[in-house]
Amino acid sequence: MITDNFLRTPLTEFIADLKKKKINRFYFIYSADKEKLISSRPEFEYLAAEILNNKRDFNKHEGLFFELTDKYDSLLGAFIHKTNRGQGQGGVRFWDYEHLGDFISDGLRLSEGMTRKNALAGLWWGGGKGIITHSPGVDRKDPEVRKYIFRKYGEFITSLKGAYLTAEDVGTNTPDMYEIYKHTRFCTCIPPETGGSGNPSAPTAMGVVAGMEAGLEFLGLGTLQDKTIAMQGAGNVGLPMIQFLFEKGVKNVIVCDINPENIKRAKDKFSGKNMTAELVGIDDLSIFGHDCDIFAPNATGAIINPESIPMLKAKIVCGAANNQLQNPERDGKALMDKGITYIPDFLTNRMGIVNCANEQYGYVDNDPYFHRHLDKEWEHSIYKTSLEVLGNSKKSGLSPALEAIKLADHHAASLHPIFGHRANMIIQNLVAEGWENKL
Ligand code: NAD
Repeated sequence: MITDNFLRTPLTEFIADLKKKKINRFYFIYSADKEKLISSRPEFEYLAAEILNNKRDFNKHEGLFFELTDKYDSLLGAFIHKTNRGQGQGGVRFWDYEHLGDFISDGLRLSEGMTRKNALAGLWWGGGKGIITHSPGVDRKDPEVRKYIFRKYGEFITSLKGAYLTAEDVGTNTPDMYEIYKHTRFCTCIPPETGGSGNPSAPTAMGVVAGMEAGLEFLGLGTLQDKTIAMQGAGNVGLPMIQFLFEKGVKNVIVCDINPENIKRAKDKFSGKNMTAELVGIDDLSIFGHDCDIFAPNATGAIINPESIPMLKAKIVCGAANNQLQNPERDGKALMDKGITYIPDFLTNRMGIVNCANEQYGYVDNDPYFHRHLDKEWEHSIYKTSLEVLGNSKKSGLSPALEAIKLADHHAASLHPIFGHRANMIIQNLVAEGWENKL
């Protein structure tokens, strides 16, 4: 049974109820005039009301679209937050959710995060997020399961007519993107063999290094030359980051990881360099206590929190991990109070999305539309935006995390210079054509 509090409804029960009622599509659309979230089905008006009341995660999201797969009981979601700057864009994750509320909250939060990341990067994209729920008992590694689910996701995206553009995210990879791409043109991060931009991890590392340089400049500490960097996570982003840091002349790097293979890779790649790689347990926070100039969280989110902040000895925190602050308001302030300069993650880790942003416009060597994000001149470059955010924070007394959100929300209100609010027109069109009954 679906309970009257959707946050507590187990996802499996919600899906069973959809099947019983033969509902395979539904949506929620925000009406700015009525300040109401409108449900495609009267039986889900209680869900619309609860989503609207979820003040923490809901922020006038323009459209939320859902479809249930015939096989494997996956709920496909496209969460479109704000499309003033263009189509709602953001990766699709393939993930387990225990409750319906966790699934919806994640989509709401992550799609708003993409609006901000894209706007701060000066990209002409709005914010969106895809989620595919994984059902218990289904083998997610089975190639047939993946092929079916990603084909269905591609068809689902096609049905949304371009209001949402998808990309790779947690739980999905480039071959999955290719499977989606076979069934929709509204997909980025496809493999280079099919004209895509491929793995974005090294560009992401470059962007974070540009953020570190801005932090040092802001504090009057010069360049990365002779600095010490402590890093959590030597994965796809961490490893190339070490390389870029040595190229910038850092004195030494201390890195930790929970995966022995990644520690070995780091040791092999940087033997002869001044680098220490430590294998740690998952709850080991000793890396936070190292004497260093910069601490780079390159592993998981929510790692900057009341337990880890008191241990930090760095002057700057700047890394690739998404949502590093467990609580942006509380932890942003705690870092400031401790005299630590925080460069917000969604500002510096943008290069993954930048890497695939202009796939459809083709490729040139040393693409200026890519490199301007890493230079010191362009108004939306990581370096300049970081300095702007840190300057605003110094003036206002608000943390850099909150100042970055303010600046992002300001840019997110701009309309696409050619297409205006076209993606919202698409959403209205889907409603008018009865999208929910078209399967
Ligand atoms: P990854 O999985 O390749 O690397 C993460 C590494 O962190 C792994 O080696 C893992 O073993 C290690 N790790 C996990 N928990 C740890 C812990 N408690 N202590 C120490 N090490 C731990 O992921 P990635 O692609 O390198 O991405 C790193 C972070 O950056 C992630 O949070 C990701 O969401 C974010 N990010 C990545 C990109 C990208 O282009 N890959 C873009 C934007 C943001």
